[in-house]
Amino acid sequence: MVAREISRRRLVVGSAAVAALAACSREEPEASRTRPASPGMTSSRGTREREVKQRFDGQPTRDGAGVKLTRMLGSSALPMVDPFLMLDEFHSDKADDYIRGFPSHPHRGFETVTYMLHGAMEHKDSLGNHGRLGPGSTQWMTAGHGIVHSEMPQQENGLMWGFQLWVNLPAAKKLTKPRYQDLAPQSIVELAIDDAQVRLIAGEAQGKRGPVDGIVTDPQMLDVALPKRGGFSHPLPATHNAFALVFEGAVALGPSRTRVDAGQIAVLGPGELVTARSAEGGRMLLLAGRPLGEPVARRGPFVMSTEEELNQAVSDYQSGRLTVWGG
Ligand code: FE
Repeated sequence: MVAREISRRRLVVGSAAVAALAACSREEPEASRTRPASPGMTSSRGTREREVKQRFDGQPTRDGAGVKLTRMLGSSALPMVDPFLMLDEFHSDKADDYIRGFPSHPHRGFETVTYMLHGAMEHKDSLGNHGRLGPGSTQWMTAGHGIVHSEMPQQENGLMWGFQLWVNLPAAKKLTKPRYQDLAPQSIVELAIDDAQVRLIAGEAQGKRGPVDGIVTDPQMLDVALPKRGGFSHPLPATHNAFALVFEGAVALGPSRTRVDAGQIAVLGPGELVTARSAEGGRMLLLAGRPLGEPVARRGPFVMSTEEELNQAVSDYQSGRLTVWGG
């Protein structure tokens, strides 16, 4: 999905994002961060639980041809959590909020991930891919050198609910060959972790791997549903930045049991373990990825490292070269 204006919206990540990145990757003294695991949690003694460092409300916006969205990540409040550039939630049972969809538009320099909870979207792209994204399915598209695609609702009424995540590529891979992973609902690994029902989309849990593979930032992506009075703990690589987006109920995260309500995003601090409890039940997306630590230059549907590369992307799109890989 795409910002409406290619030329006017641009953002070279500024001091707020750099500060957020620094906060996410800063190591604190071992003694102050080391805590024993909570009772009932499946951690070993001395493993650091990730604390909630920042918490934000999503910001309402519209994108594509006028689709109503809540921008959870990628707004002025929280520009990015390296390597994650954007996360939108679309959730409406009013056709007027989604019916115009995301007509043909380009991407270059990063990856787009669509995860559907309810409803269906039709996808077509310049690689010749054509598919239907239904409930529980995921599409992981590595735009790389360039893809032009459309994402249009396959329904005229009823609930449409899902997410779109943008994941950055390192400078050396921004012009990589485009790739498309279309993951049917049944290909996603379903697990019980402590009290939670988990859909493992990317990464590893209980010795199993999610179906997404070969992604350079080694992403972990879990859909975690906690019942009333349920608990959950899950190891994440200490090298990774991580955040949680709560989209149903409420979840208490980390050793301080910081409450995060539906519609809020929580950026997690350093550590090896994510812990969560829920009094009334809740559901969240848990994301982690290896930070790139590189300059980010954004303009609408393009995410590159410099202004010159953005100009080149616009020029290549206008001349038809964006989707000519290796040519
Ligand atoms: Fe798109």
